[in-house]
Amino acid sequence: MESASIYRTDVWNKKPLRFLLEQTDTFVNCVELVTSRGLITERSGRRVLDLARNLADDSQIHALSITDNPGGNAMLSPETLGTDMIARGQEVIIHLSCKDWNRNALQSRAWKLASEGFKNILALSGDCPTGGYQGQAGSVFDIDSVGLLDMYSKMNEGLLSDDKVGTAMEPTQFLLGAVVTNFKQLESEVMPQYFKLALKVKSGARFIINQIGYDSRKQDELLKVMDHYQLQVPVLANVYVLSRPAARYFHSGAIPGVVVTDELLTIVEQQANSPDKGKAFFLELAAKQCAIAKGLGYRGVYIGGHLKADDYLKVLSITKSYGTEDWREFAKEIQFSQPSEFYFFEANRETTLSSNELNHKYLASKSPEVLEESRKRVPLSYKINRMAHDKVFEKKRLGFQIAQKFYERVERSKNSVQKVLHQVEHGFKILGFDCRDCGDCSLPDIAFLCPESQCAKNQRNGPCGGTRQGKCEVGQKECIWSLAYERLKAYGEEENMLERGVIFRNGALKGTSAWANNFLGRDHHAKVDGNNGRISSDLKGRTNNS
Ligand code: SF4
Repeated sequence: MESASIYRTDVWNKKPLRFLLEQTDTFVNCVELVTSRGLITERSGRRVLDLARNLADDSQIHALSITDNPGGNAMLSPETLGTDMIARGQEVIIHLSCKDWNRNALQSRAWKLASEGFKNILALSGDCPTGGYQGQAGSVFDIDSVGLLDMYSKMNEGLLSDDKVGTAMEPTQFLLGAVVTNFKQLESEVMPQYFKLALKVKSGARFIINQIGYDSRKQDELLKVMDHYQLQVPVLANVYVLSRPAARYFHSGAIPGVVVTDELLTIVEQQANSPDKGKAFFLELAAKQCAIAKGLGYRGVYIGGHLKADDYLKVLSITKSYGTEDWREFAKEIQFSQPSEFYFFEANRETTLSSNELNHKYLASKSPEVLEESRKRVPLSYKINRMAHDKVFEKKRLGFQIAQKFYERVERSKNSVQKVLHQVEHGFKILGFDCRDCGDCSLPDIAFLCPESQCAKNQRNGPCGGTRQGKCEVGQKECIWSLAYERLKAYGEEENMLERGVIFRNGALKGTSAWANNFLGRDHHAKVDGNNGRISSDLKGRTNNS
């Protein structure tokens, strides 16, 4: 039931998203808008503006969510459209991604947005740039979605940063959201996505939107995973209204994590041959997904697609026409999973959705006998690095104390000595890890894989959504987070791979000795409450006891 509203009802002003999600049980309808390239006065810009205004005029649309250079292309900034929406009393979610902005620019942008009256932010790592003036733009990825959530959470508390605790600034009041890419195929992709989701919630995400997908069992699983890990934040279900071109595009794998299977594409192709090009079918499919989301317990839907305003409203009116239990049959109908897709929970035979019982094969794969076998397949270099790290880089070890004393002396020695030692270290790490000399080493955070050289987005706080069957969307290399998962799992340590504070790379350390920075407490390890892969997490305990 809605609690007494503090918001005026005598003016055309939709209620804040925060109020709807936190103080009511309203099922929230959100529509995603993609801005155009060029000025808003151009035809394509005016078309998006008209669409947004028409949606803003309808009380059923609670929020409009505006993208930030999607697909890595330069598009009109979301706040240009958003400002017009705010003036119309329309709640807006602004997407902010880390691909084009460093942490200072993102902070500055947050102050700008807060000053202009924007309240809701969706924090994203973002897609790698795909185009640009006179050549492809370089990507920034100074921080990632988790770092962005952490930084904006601190700004909500009125602090500039950890370094200036006590420097009170006027707090921002953002409702922060995040996404989860849950329709992945492999265990080594799915599980790290769930762990990252937990870290996002811990870092300040107050609502979650999942990736586009057409598998009700996985959709159900997400809510059960959130219960399992006690992540109590509302989730909006992504409902993308298909068309033949969109289905073909998704089927081609162009957007990693968005899957249209062969079976679904066959249905789409058949329907698209009808006189209306399948439009009625696609709108009804989306309405069924909305009904399923409501039935499963999602707090709302996040509808996307290339549609007119009337089409979005049609989806909502079809949804309303269904009986309260109809969604159960729809859920059986919309289950397009990938071959050998990994699920964290067993299927419920009766509903065909997710049960609360952990995947039997997954549990069996964590038995001591299987893990012993897995350890035999782990690269020897990883075993050696683990051992060396344990003896020298673990703070309580004698090796660490000796190394610390040694580097204290080195600090007092001549520059030339420091330089030679740094070169020796760097040479060794180039051979072993393709080191880029960032000076703030994350090797122990990612099972001895270097994020600078082996991750296109320098993700230090978990995987982005950009894998296909465990391979990175850029360059088709194995994702370092999938590899790290496999390595850690062999030691029964995968579940706490992200059980730590948020890592921010310190740019000031670039080109300096990471070992000296580590032993002398200058790098992120001095701040982050990490356990470098040691078993102790609550998450692990919960899973094994389930
Ligand atoms: S994280 Fe930095 S210091 Fe560590 S191996 Fe990579 S580039 Fe080198």
